[in-house]
Amino acid sequence: MADLSSSTAATTTSPLQPIQVDVKPPHVPSADPVRALMSASITETAPEGPQRDVMGGAARREFKVLDHGFVALVDAMPRLVPEGYTADQAIVQAARVSYGAGTKQINEDRGLIRYLLRHRHTTPFEMVEFKFHIAMPIFIARQWIRHRTANVNEYSARYSIVKDRFYKPSLESVRKQSASNRQGGEQTFNVSDEQQIKTAQDFLAFLDHVETLYGKYLSLTEQGVSRELARMGLPVNVYTEWYWKCDLHNILRFISLRLDSHAQLEIRAYAQAMLDLIEPIVPHTVEAWKDYEFNALHLSALEIQAIRELRSGGSGTLNTTNKREQAEWDTKRASLGL
Ligand SMILES: Cc1cc2nc3c(=O)[nH]c(=O)nc-3n(C[C@H](O)[C@H](O)[C@H](O)COP(=O)(O)OP(=O)(O)OC[C@H]3O[C@@H](n4cnc5c(N)ncnc54)[C@H](O)[C@@H]3O)c2cc1C
Repeated sequence: MADLSSSTAATTTSPLQPIQVDVKPPHVPSADPVRALMSASITETAPEGPQRDVMGGAARREFKVLDHGFVALVDAMPRLVPEGYTADQAIVQAARVSYGAGTKQINEDRGLIRYLLRHRHTTPFEMVEFKFHIAMPIFIARQWIRHRTANVNEYSARYSIVKDRFYKPSLESVRKQSASNRQGGEQTFNVSDEQQIKTAQDFLAFLDHVETLYGKYLSLTEQGVSRELARMGLPVNVYTEWYWKCDLHNILRFISLRLDSHAQLEIRAYAQAMLDLIEPIVPHTVEAWKDYEFNALHLSALEIQAIRELRSGGSGTLNTTNKREQAEWDTKRASLGL
């Protein structure tokens, strides 16, 4: 092994020498082999004509949702589009890159968007993004966070005191457990029935009770309990907030799932607000999504077979022993008038 003692001594006794850095302007190509592969300066191109802000100059466009919640659109990409166009333009621009043409006539753009959506050419729809500021109860946030393709930054209840906001439905909107759907609760209590109204009132009294725990939470944090632990005692109807940014393709997927009648009513209200905020900005895409996805009907191979059988005089029964699948077919059949 080499004897390092002398060099160590030299290092510890000599003053540190300033490092000489050879600073060259970045535009000298020979100085940097990476920059040598780039142009020396940025080329700026002005827009072809006047542009407009898709949010009409607003910093924020907001819907109130539930008792203390909101969905606010705070930014969009593209934010500026050529005058007379919508942000749908960014989708056709990306789709046409393969043959080098930009935006054409507006009606051609609409046709292309409908084609792309119908044939599930999804990536051009990822060229548009929206950023939202949302306040929702934690039980809704838990459903929301399952949509993994978004970028999320949530209010920290370790760093800050949780705000005194709790979701409480009105007496008329307290829902019963559905007998047919274990995940659902569509029907409300009958408020003219004494027993039913009592049950709904008991539920609201229960929510009032858990809300009183907020005072205890505050006083314990004041006595020095860490915020990260004190929050454990708060119920899931307390509100949280986050910034949520996502591309249009995945926003439409979120809305498809969460505006659907199978989703919980509360999150459906958020999905509806989100849809109403983006629709004026990407009207052609939303129109196509409604036509080919949201209001469309998907038929399985078994269902197509049942329709064919029906047309040749058969009963149109689905060839399955699965009761749920059969029930779903019955619903589709009824909606098709078959
Ligand atoms: C009515 C309803 C009831 C539900 N019930 C339950 C429940 O009881 N329990 C429960 O746990 N969840 C439940 N969920 C959540 C559900 O299972 C999904 O997690 C949620 O809807 C998000 O869907 P997603 O994965 O398509 O969305 P995103 O996470 O937004 O993903 C969008 C798409 O990106 C792709 N993608 C994203 N991440 C990956 C990955 N890691 N690998 C490959 N592809 C990826 C997929 O194509 C995916 O469809 C429910 C959802 C709904 C709408």
